Amino acid sequence: MSESSVIRKAVISDRAAARLRNGHVWVYASDVLNDGGAGAGALVHVVNAKGKLLGSAVHSSASQIKLRLVSKEALNTEDDLINLVRERLREAVNYRKQVVGDTDAYRLVFSEGDRLPGLIIDQYNDILTFQVLTQAWDRPQRRDAIVSTVRGLTGSEHVVERVDERIRELEQLPQLESQIVAGNKSSTTFSMNGIRFLYDAQSGQKTGAFLDQRENYAAAAQFARGEALDVCSYQGGFALHLARVCDHVTALDISREALEVAEQNEKLNSAQVRSEIEWIEANAFDLLRDYADSGRQYDMIVLDPPAFAKSKKNLAPAMRGYKELNLRAMKMVRPGGFLVTCSCSFAVSEEDFLGVLNEAAQDAHRAVKVVEKRTQAKDHPILLGVPETYYLKCIILAVV
Ligand code: SAH
Repeated sequence: MSESSVIRKAVISDRAAARLRNGHVWVYASDVLNDGGAGAGALVHVVNAKGKLLGSAVHSSASQIKLRLVSKEALNTEDDLINLVRERLREAVNYRKQVVGDTDAYRLVFSEGDRLPGLIIDQYNDILTFQVLTQAWDRPQRRDAIVSTVRGLTGSEHVVERVDERIRELEQLPQLESQIVAGNKSSTTFSMNGIRFLYDAQSGQKTGAFLDQRENYAAAAQFARGEALDVCSYQGGFALHLARVCDHVTALDISREALEVAEQNEKLNSAQVRSEIEWIEANAFDLLRDYADSGRQYDMIVLDPPAFAKSKKNLAPAMRGYKELNLRAMKMVRPGGFLVTCSCSFAVSEEDFLGVLNEAAQDAHRAVKVVEKRTQAKDHPILLGVPETYYLKCIILAVV
């Protein structure tokens, strides 16, 4: 047997074993008592201190999350792992068929949420993109199996690998360029809720569009009218939906590149969008302060800032950021208007977020009602037992 085909045993602490029993899939490096000499990305058997098998995991030699459980069973060969991956991909594709509507762009595989920890796959109309976040899925045989299986399941010919340089560096994976790995196309248009968007797999942030907000765009539009302000608009997701129903929309973002795409998206939807959108390149903190000071008022404001807290460590400054933006926004919502406010930091819990929204409401001297507590779209499933899969909070507030 070759070295790589020996399945090593990783021994974990009782605390980590209890976490796995509760449905979590991560084992931190500090809880691995002995990694059995597992290599980067290796399939391992996870056992407790008494030697009892808890399941099979993929190993990372670089991450603080040293083991990610992929099955509670013993996978004994590389083929077992590949078969499991194929089954999980099928399950993920079938789930989307059941829960996704009104769009040809959605997340097809959401990492831990789809029990394929460290793997993201998105469908954008006729293009698939994938992103590898852990050593495990960077192994050529596994990558090839993943790509050929999703192509087969979706009938999509074009596949682009999207690279997050920072993640590859943290995982100690060799640097790569984002590139086409199958077919020949890397840009297309897609639509959601009847609005069309440009998509270029070789540029843009994250994996391109913010697919997780799709259902929230439609929800926000239900309450929108009059004048709206979309803060941190990126390529215009909320703004374009609001422009179908509002008389005037102002959208701001700090990224010129994002706003350039947003303007092209506006043109693409000229038949649908009834009001002209004013795109403003600005820092949200500065512009909201200026607008609030000059007494501007809106019937709807959307706040969708980037994740201020990347971890619990920078929670305090993140909460100050949320407080400031929400306070200024609440002051600017006309009585009877709405604030749609989001946090995409996992580290900020729903309870924390509602708490900071209340502080902002008290300081703004406004009575604020919770109309809807929303989250990421259904194609980003929240897996019970893995709280980190619940990251997006989107709260729709009526500001009295
Ligand atoms: N609402 C968007 C997604 C927003 S992502 C959508 O639905 O598609 C967060 C956006 O905030 C990014 O486009 C980023 O460029 C922008 N951003 C980050 N810091 C900012 C700041 N200080 N002021 C304004 N925009 C900012």
